[in-house]
Amino acid sequence: MWEKAVLKRYKDKLDSPTEAKQYFFKGLLKCSHCNKKIKLIEDRYVCNDGCTSISKNTLIKLIFSKILWDINTLTIQHSLSDELSKIETKLNSSKRELKSTDKAIKRKIHEYMNNNPNIDITNLKERIEKLTKSKEETEINIQSYGKINYNLSYCLNNIEKFKILMFKINDEDVDYFDDYFEELKDLLNEFIKKVVLNNNLDHVKVEYI
Ligand SMILES: [Zn+2]
Repeated sequence: MWEKAVLKRYKDKLDSPTEAKQYFFKGLLKCSHCNKKIKLIEDRYVCNDGCTSISKNTLIKLIFSKILWDINTLTIQHSLSDELSKIETKLNSSKRELKSTDKAIKRKIHEYMNNNPNIDITNLKERIEKLTKSKEETEINIQSYGKINYNLSYCLNNIEKFKILMFKINDEDVDYFDDYFEELKDLLNEFIKKVVLNNNLDHVKVEYI
C-alpha cells in the first residue's frame, strides 16, 4: 500500500512536466458561505468570492488537529468500517448468487443436450440466455464491490499511516508539516473527500471518503 503511494507520487511528477503549484488540501477546500473553492494565494487560503480568507498556518493547524481528533475518536474508522462490512456482505452474497446461477446454467444446458422431445426448446434457450445475462451482471457487481472493498481497506490503512506520521512530526510548527509535505498530501488525498469551512473557523467539516 505504501509503495503504491510512493509510485503514484513519482507518476504524478512525471505526468506534469510544468509542475503546478502544490499545497495542502488543494482541490479539497470549500467555502461554506459561497460554496466556492478555497485556494492558496500567497500565504492565505481564500475563496473566489472573498468571504473566506485564512492564514495558511492557521488553516493547516486547524484541519490537521480536526483530522487527528476524528482519528482518535475513531469517527473515521467507524464510518469506513461500517461501509467495509456492508460491501463485504454484498460481495459475499453476489459470489453465492454467481455460484447458483452457474449451476442453473449447467442444468439447463444439460437439459438442452439431452434432446428430450417433450421439452420446449425455444423456452429453454431463452432461459439459458437470461441466466447468462444475469451471470454477467453479477460478475460486474462482484468486480465493482471488490474495487470498493479494496479502496476502503486502502483508506483505512492510509489513516493509520497518517496517524503514525503525525506522531513522528510531533510539532505544532507548520514548517515540520512542510518537511513531510509529499507523504502527507498523498495520504490525505486518499481518505479526505472535502473540507468545508468559513472565515470564523466556527464551522470546519471534514468529509471522509
Ligand atoms: Zn466564500
